[in-house]
Amino acid sequence: VKQKGKNDYYVFQDDHLKKKLPDLILLGDLHKSIRNRELFIVYQPIIDVKTTKIRAMETLVRWYHPVHGTVPPSEFIPLAEETGFIVSIGEWVIRQACEQHEKWKKIGLPPVRIAVNISVKELQDQHFAKRVEAILSQKQISPEYLELEITESLMIYNEPIILNNLMRMKEIGVRLSIDDFGTGYSSLAYLKRLDVDTVKIDQSFIADCPRSYYGSVITTTIISLAHHLGMNVIAEGVEHLDQFRYLEEKGCQEAQGYLFSRPLHPKEATKLLFQGIRH
Ligand code: C2E
Ligand code: CA
Ligand code: CA
Ligand code: CA
Repeated sequence: VKQKGKNDYYVFQDDHLKKKLPDLILLGDLHKSIRNRELFIVYQPIIDVKTTKIRAMETLVRWYHPVHGTVPPSEFIPLAEETGFIVSIGEWVIRQACEQHEKWKKIGLPPVRIAVNISVKELQDQHFAKRVEAILSQKQISPEYLELEITESLMIYNEPIILNNLMRMKEIGVRLSIDDFGTGYSSLAYLKRLDVDTVKIDQSFIADCPRSYYGSVITTTIISLAHHLGMNVIAEGVEHLDQFRYLEEKGCQEAQGYLFSRPLHPKEATKLLFQGIRH
């Protein structure tokens, strides 16, 4: 087994290189992506379960690479986090989101919340809150329409800078949402301390609903917990009608997923806001 292990070592080395080399090439390109206007945002609606009206749009970033085509966030966000470039990407996304909100307002659409994904790395920057405040005042968007989605795992970082940034956001009226709820290190104390507005039930639990016992129990428990704490609940990854019916029955307020819409380019998103969701 040991001898075989020696071969495995070389195999591992090759795989390691195969994985790391393109990363390095991509990394050089990534730093030019904002300047070259290669980043773009797609918007996925979050709907009101009772009325199917659109309540919010989540911004999901994409990178259109001149050679590789569209690179999904799962491939470049971790790289951007490692190098700190995520701070620039994040600021760009928030600015775009606020600009889009302004455009929708100008053409007379009823206002929807804009939900933006935020990395831990962004929150570790002591100027985060100040930069968001500056964008909000430039864009004349009322803070309650901005919702920051943070992943639950960052709750384990008991860092004053992160907490100060988040508390400042709450102070000025920006909403906080816990993404992928139920998968990370839940600290219920933080929900209270940060006065979180929304929890998003992770799509892995919704995928198991209503057929699997565990998925259903976890989903209903999260809904009940959130309601007892006065929070809004969003179910994400809703793909089938039976999942939707289940969530409706359990009193989940909002839902998001392919059943209603895939993430859309700004023009398509605008069209959908005019038309509404048909079902
Ligand atoms: P997330 O925030 O949990 O976003 C949900 C992901 O599920 C998105 O993938 C979305 O396209 C996908 N999705 C939506 N509805 C359904 C459905 O019904 N079924 C299934 N199977 N999937 C669905 P996407 O766009 O590839 O984004 C992946 C992750 O990348 C996001 O997970 C988020 O954590 C991160 N991300 C995206 N944009 C940004 C950003 O601007 N900044 C940061 N820091 N992270 C971002
Ligand atoms: Ca999210
Ligand atoms: Ca999520
Ligand atoms: Ca996520």
